[in-house]
Amino acid sequence: MATPESQGTPPAREPFEPGPLLLMGAPGVGKGTQAKELAGRWAIPQISTGDLLRAHVASGSPLGTEARQLMEQGTLVPDALVNRMVEQRLGDPDTVPGYMLDGYPRTLAQAQWLDRKLAAGPRALPLIALSIRVAYTQLLRRVTGRRICPRCGSIYNTYLHPPKQEGVCDLDGTSLVRRDDDSEAVFEDRLRAYEAQTAPVVEHYRSLGRLTEMDGEGTPESITARLAEAVERLRRKP
Ligand code: AMP
Repeated sequence: MATPESQGTPPAREPFEPGPLLLMGAPGVGKGTQAKELAGRWAIPQISTGDLLRAHVASGSPLGTEARQLMEQGTLVPDALVNRMVEQRLGDPDTVPGYMLDGYPRTLAQAQWLDRKLAAGPRALPLIALSIRVAYTQLLRRVTGRRICPRCGSIYNTYLHPPKQEGVCDLDGTSLVRRDDDSEAVFEDRLRAYEAQTAPVVEHYRSLGRLTEMDGEGTPESITARLAEAVERLRRKP
C-alpha cells in the first residue's frame, strides 16, 4: 500500500517549541527578515521592546509617558522600566512555546535580570542568543546601495539588485531616492553604537555557551535554515 513517504510526501515536522530566543545583528544584516521567518516557522511571537515602548507612548500609558522623552533623545530607557514591560508581555499565553526577542536584552543588567526570571520560571528554559554577522564591506554595500521608489515603495540595491535602468523604478519609471540615514556616515555611527551597546550582552551569552554566531551571507532562505537548525540542535541537547 502506498504510504505518504512512498508517494514522496515529506513526513510531518514534529512540533517544536523553541523557547526564549534572542536575535541580534548590526543594521543591515537582515535581522528583521530572519526574525519574521523564524517566528512564522515556529508560530511564536516576535517581541520588540522598541515596538512595545512605541505602543505605550502612543497609548499615553504611565510607562509610555516615562519613556517618551528618553526615546526621543535616542537614550536607553531605564532597565527597571523595560524589564517591567517585558515581564508583563512574557505573561501572555502566546509566549508559552517560545518567543523571539528583538532589541532586548540590550544591557548586561537586563540580560542578568532575564536569566534569573527564566531560571525561576516553570520551564526553566534558558535563552538562546543568535547573532547574525556580515562582513563590514558587504554591510556597507547593503546599506549605502539601497534605493527606494517613492511612489510604489520597491526597494533596489545599486550593487546587489540594481534596477534595469539606473536610478529608475522598473515598475513605474519613478526616479529612485536614497534615504538620508542610508549614508556612509550615518551607517558608521549606527554600527559603532550597535557594537558598543551589544558587546557586553554578546559576551555575556558567549561566556555562558549560549551564543550562536551565524554568517549572514547567502540567500535569506539558507540563513533561516541554518539559524533554525542551530536552535533545534541546541534545544535538543540534553
Ligand atoms: P528600537 O526600535 O529597538 O531602536 O528602540 C527604540 C528606542 O526604544 C531606543 O532608542 C531606546 O530609547 C528604547 N529601547 C528599546 N529597547 C530598549 C531596551 N532593551 N533597553 C532600553 N531602551 C530600549
